[in-house]
Formats: sequence, C-alpha cells, structure tokens
Amino acid sequence: MNQEKKGKIFVISGPSGVGKGTLVKLLTGKHPEIVLSTSVTTRVPRPGEVNGIHYFFIEKKFFLDRINKEDFLEWTEFAGNYYGTDKNIADSVVKQGCNLLLEIDVKGALQVKEKRADAILIFIEPPSIEELKSRLFKRKTESDKEIQERLSIVKSEIDRKPEFNYCIVNDCLDRTFHELETTVINEINKTESYK
Ligand code: ADP
Ligand code: 5GP
Repeated sequence: MNQEKKGKIFVISGPSGVGKGTLVKLLTGKHPEIVLSTSVTTRVPRPGEVNGIHYFFIEKKFFLDRINKEDFLEWTEFAGNYYGTDKNIADSVVKQGCNLLLEIDVKGALQVKEKRADAILIFIEPPSIEELKSRLFKRKTESDKEIQERLSIVKSEIDRKPEFNYCIVNDCLDRTFHELETTVINEINKTESYK
C-alpha cells in the first residue's frame, strides 16, 4: 500500500504575555521544517507587524462572513478582537506532510482538539501571576486597560490546563525552550500518521 506521511498539528497556548511568541520564534528559527500558521485577525497591527507575515489583518465584517462560511478550523474573540485559523490552509499544510504549529488562545486550542483529535496541545504556564504581569507591562504593546483585560481571564485559562497533552512552565527561557523542543521533536518522531 502506498501510504504517504501526514504532518502533525502542534498547538502552543497559554495566557497572553507568558512567552508563547518568544518560544515559537526560537523553535521555528531552529526548525524551519515546522510551519507556523499565520492567523487571521481583526486586531490593529502593532508597530512592525506586517500583513500576511505576522497576521492577516481584516475588518470585522469580513471576519464574521468567514465564520458563517465555516472557513475557520477554530476562532475566538479575545480582548475585544477576533482571531482565527484558516481551515483550508491548515489542512493542506498537514496533507503535504509538513508539521504545523498554531500559536493560539486557550479557547481556540480546545476547539482544535475537538476537531482534530490527534493534535498535540502544549500549555505554556507562567511561573507566577506576578511574573506574568511584569512581562506584559515590560512588553509595552498594550495599554494598562488592555493588560488588565488580558489578566482578568488568566485564572480561567489555567483551569483548562488538564485538557492539554503537555504543560511547560516558562521560567528560565533557555530551559523552557529545551523542554519545548524536546517535546515537539519526540512527538514528530513517534509513530507516523497517514493521509
Ligand atoms: P505571548 O506571545 O505569550 O503573549 P511574548 O512571547 O510576547 O508572550 O512574551 C512576553 C514578554 O515576556 C516579552 O517581552 C518576552 O521577551 C518576555 N519573556 C518571554 N519569556 C520569558 C522568560 N522566560 N523570562 C523572562 N521574560 C520572558
Ligand atoms: P495578540 O493580540 O497578543 O497577538 O494575541 C492575543 C491572543 O490571541 C494570544 O493568546 C494569541 O495566541 C491568540 N491568537 C493569535 N492568533 C489566534 C488564532 O488564530 N486563534 C486563536 N484562537 N487565538 C489566536
């Protein structure tokens, strides 16, 4: 039987400011064979963010149209903005045999688990809420009000941690990256999935 290898879906999730973007950048920088999904969002671009690279930035009315057309593998409303993963793009990457990485919020991660049961979910946890606050304030990409909004849901996000396949505490960045990389590479090398 001629069976071609199918890629795996990795979902990296956790509270805003925990370090997901930092870790994902390190991982995809070192492993260019892992494809990072570009999400669609209604959020305003931050300085330096480029349409089609960091996100596909679209207006809310187009995002809502796309929800109706069931274009998304998962989508969420987070801190007043919509975010989603294009289903066709995600499926075609995996079908080509590439491993796909999604960096998304907790609600979206759990939707992926429902729709693609073989997806591997990794929760990135802060060492403490105080440290998380400090990272968000130091990053300076949101207003104080937006930071408070992001912090107000952290407890409910951490409550969903048991539903993930792995949980990694982002304390020391080097150590955390090593644990994440080992986890992902071990999963990639596990028994193959087939189309
Ligand atoms: P997220 O993508 O989860 O919102 P970021 O990757 O943007 O988070 O990280 C938030 C801030 O915390 C950034 O300024 C980043 O440099 C910093 N950061 C990330 N990991 C660590 C760590 N292990 N220790 C200290 N600061 C960190
Ligand atoms: P930010 O505005 O900081 O870029 O992202 C806010 C939150 O939205 C982060 O937790 C990020 O992981 C999440 N996010 C980004 N893209 C998506 C997506 O396509 N789907 C979901 N569910 N969350 C996303």
